[in-house]
Amino acid sequence: MTVTKRPSKKKLMFISLLSILLIASAIVSTYALTQANSVKVTAEVLNVRNGPGLSYDIISQSRKNDRLKVIAEENKWYKVTLTSGEIGWVASWLVENVDVSAASNSNGKVVATLANVRANADINATVLDTVNKNKTVTVVSSQNGWTQVTYDKITGWIKSDFIKVEGASTDDTTALQKLTIREANTNIRDEASISGNLLETAQPGTTYDIIDSKDSWYEVKTTAGTTGYVANWVVTVGENEQAATPTVTSLSEATIVLDPGHGGNDTGAIGNNGTYEKTIALKTAAAIKAQIETTGAKVIMTRTDDSYIGLATRANSTNKHGADAFLSIHFDSTEEPNTASGTSTYYYNDNDQDFATTLNTQLETSMPLENHGIKYGDFQVLRENTAPALLLELGYINNGYDETTIDTDDYRQKVAQAVTNGLINYYAN
Ligand SMILES: [Zn+2]
Repeated sequence: MTVTKRPSKKKLMFISLLSILLIASAIVSTYALTQANSVKVTAEVLNVRNGPGLSYDIISQSRKNDRLKVIAEENKWYKVTLTSGEIGWVASWLVENVDVSAASNSNGKVVATLANVRANADINATVLDTVNKNKTVTVVSSQNGWTQVTYDKITGWIKSDFIKVEGASTDDTTALQKLTIREANTNIRDEASISGNLLETAQPGTTYDIIDSKDSWYEVKTTAGTTGYVANWVVTVGENEQAATPTVTSLSEATIVLDPGHGGNDTGAIGNNGTYEKTIALKTAAAIKAQIETTGAKVIMTRTDDSYIGLATRANSTNKHGADAFLSIHFDSTEEPNTASGTSTYYYNDNDQDFATTLNTQLETSMPLENHGIKYGDFQVLRENTAPALLLELGYINNGYDETTIDTDDYRQKVAQAVTNGLINYYAN
């Protein structure tokens, strides 16, 4: 954790000077925006997010030279309409202002020997027409590597590679765009999926050339010179931006994912009295959520009803929501009933040992069951998590004493308070 020091007078003066400069540059960029009703994507791949900032979820992606209609601007982000009709936000520093109002559509020239004109921006869409090299068309818009053109009363889509837009840069040798790794021990895999084989591991600040993008993954050139994939939620596009994940200094600023174990057909362990682990895990997580929320923190649940959620989806929920921590809620069992009792706190990453200790100290001091301390556990929900992640086993469901203790409001309230206090201490340190 970063300790915030009170800034000196000199530093404060520097900060206010800096703010004046920032405000001034914001005015200039707002002025520039009013000149343009659309922007052209200058980055190889551009993330479209559901809000004006890097912390918002990526809802779509746009390719180089795509033209996006601008609706609004906020904090150097543009609210744009995609050709699909979807609305999202893009970083202003990755696009260029252009004006493509109806009166000023650009002309384009077909550069392929033959190019199909399709009904939609999709390789499987119906072919409306075929045009020859050097055919001149009017460029209407572009999206995901496709350019919408109109000519001779036909309007359709041609692959952008097959069209040269007049006035557009002819410099095809522009350097590949780079991305910077944001998270520690980021995996570069041989497929655009978390089940792909591991090719190499990268550390924050490492940059890679972007070759292409696929779903939520970037195709990159690995250190060995081969092709690999990295998840877009652990990287920042560009190499100049500092790899800066905002540091949470109090629980109230944090987003916590709570993961009630099991659900649906997966009942989890079953108690001597027929209690299902999935049922009390959900009730306990709901109590923890309510308690954490009293601090102002945001809580996301991987499930809120009796449904089955895959382990990879649970693990990925922290990435998806930009969460700061992940807690999986479970109850233990033994083969033979009534042979074990008590609670355990599991971590997978060595980096999470402090987190485990801080949280477990609170459980140890306030819970009515024996505390077995922190333990290493190779659980998928922890292993595939990019945020600090713990799995809590909050008592043995097939121990008569534990079973009657853990399924009570009193126990749930104690757990909720202990977990919340543990998180408060964790973020305060
Ligand atoms: Zn379990």
